[in-house]
Amino acid sequence: MVNPEKPTGSNFIRNIINEDNAINKYEGRVHTRFPPEPNGYLHIGHAKSICLNFGLALEYGGQCNLRFDDTNPVAEDPEYVASIQKDVKWLGFDWQDRLFNASDYFDKFYEYAEKLITLDKAYVDSQSADEIRKNRGTLTEPGRNSPYRDRSVAENLTILRGMRDGKYEEGSHILRAKIDMTSPNINMRDPAIYRIRKAEHHATGKKWCIYPMYDFAHCISDALERITHSICTLEFEDHRPLYDWFLDNCGFAQPRPKQIEFARLDLTYTVTSKRKLKELVTEGHVKSWDDPRMPTISGMRRRGFRPAALRDFCERIGVAKAANIVDMGLLEFCVREDLETSARRVLGVLQPIKVVIEDYPADKVEHIEAPYHPQDATFGTRKLPFTRELYIESDDFTENPPKGYFRLVPGGEVRLRYGYIIKCKEVIKDSLGKIIEIRCSHDADTLGKNPADGRKVKGIIHWVSASKAIPAEVRLYDRLFNIANPGGVKEGDYKDHLNPESLTTVTTAMLEPSLEHVTADQRFQFERLGYFCLDQDSTQSKLVFNRTVSLRDSWAKEQRS
Ligand code: ATP
Ligand code: MG
Repeated sequence: MVNPEKPTGSNFIRNIINEDNAINKYEGRVHTRFPPEPNGYLHIGHAKSICLNFGLALEYGGQCNLRFDDTNPVAEDPEYVASIQKDVKWLGFDWQDRLFNASDYFDKFYEYAEKLITLDKAYVDSQSADEIRKNRGTLTEPGRNSPYRDRSVAENLTILRGMRDGKYEEGSHILRAKIDMTSPNINMRDPAIYRIRKAEHHATGKKWCIYPMYDFAHCISDALERITHSICTLEFEDHRPLYDWFLDNCGFAQPRPKQIEFARLDLTYTVTSKRKLKELVTEGHVKSWDDPRMPTISGMRRRGFRPAALRDFCERIGVAKAANIVDMGLLEFCVREDLETSARRVLGVLQPIKVVIEDYPADKVEHIEAPYHPQDATFGTRKLPFTRELYIESDDFTENPPKGYFRLVPGGEVRLRYGYIIKCKEVIKDSLGKIIEIRCSHDADTLGKNPADGRKVKGIIHWVSASKAIPAEVRLYDRLFNIANPGGVKEGDYKDHLNPESLTTVTTAMLEPSLEHVTADQRFQFERLGYFCLDQDSTQSKLVFNRTVSLRDSWAKEQRS
């Protein structure tokens, strides 16, 4: 687990860049790229990659491209393209005029494929997929050469052109690099370059029916864009020799882009696989990609996280070579820390119970001036209406107080935040014994005088005026999964560990009237309850709030005890 400490400022990627700069390898240029495949919404792991790539470019006065790695026509969708751009911008980064698509280079990729054939570095294989798999060998056994490996350059060119022109069925031919079927690195055993896919592409339409493989397209895209440091996740480490082989054999001049791998980010109590996240959406386990329980950037945005908190989190976890799983508590810590200094404090009651102040006139309204932030006067103040009838939180009253309960009890006193000290005189119940009203008196000398009135009343509770409060729906979120590492359970089973209580919808909330005119970008601390923001489901007649995060890490507490 990562320590919530400030970053040290160095990581192994910065060291590599510094070494390259020391020998003037790229003439001091630092040019990175963020290369998402538009086959889903971005998640917290992508946020790490975005912060790293765009962050390094900013730090070194370089540039970072946004490149859609759109070489697989089947899974990709313009909806994802739009959402990715929105998310990168929202995180605070700017690709300026450098928005590219791998599909922009389809003609170039094809030229390089013909070039490799001409150099006797690629061939068309006509084995079936099964035969190819069988002949690839294993980790302990070398592979076997394809019977088609020695086709002539002319024959290879003819078939490749036929593939391009749609003359063959999917699976009948495949273009492969001619490297070494006995290589200990399976990625080097004549990897595929082009396959036939009779699918329409979201950007190039029907123009192509052959599509390049990632390993071939990615390094060439990097080289064409003159990327210096091509940062990717650890699973590509074994692909690096292939990355270099393609650039060598396609004839790209030195200094070529350098692939650097780092450990992907995994977070406890959630999953960071696009495939699984998509499954949660399509199977209805969550409402949408931007469901506030999702670890997607859009979900976290809707939940109320601010970009500064995500950037801070990504900086704190740093980059490492070793895989590790980061505690969700750290992300929430960063969110709280950001909101602590930026959110207004307001009063709202989730589970109201009525309090009647018997000795307070029925038609009187006092407007109590209360600060929006106890430590920061620049937040200003608002007027809280105080009336004879109030709501307090139902669990701020009990007839059977456990030891150490300092809130309202029969005959006891409690302080209302910014208001009076009140004393419970009587409890009114319905015929079933349910409390419907608490009758109290108030001490008129104590208004806003805490601690100046010198009264020793330990409990301070929140409240709203019953007649002036506005009703709202409030959504409370909990962990999406109830085990720490759902991504680690064996295939198919991770959904058995979904937390059935990940969403609690509270329809009874009553909020102070200043919340009537909130805007989507505002964040609030409902005192004692957590941080909240307006949800997009709000309408003219119904306000809906999301709890962004609670005030304390209740999970850490539970795990300790
Ligand atoms: P897919 O399985 O669909 O390829 P992916 O998670 O690799 O999913 P990409 O769109 O290819 O998604 O990722 C874009 C970039 O984000 C890549 O450079 C990838 O290495 C990086 N990335 C993806 N997931 C993580 C993660 N969990 N932590 C850090 N970086 C990530
Ligand atoms: Mg990927």
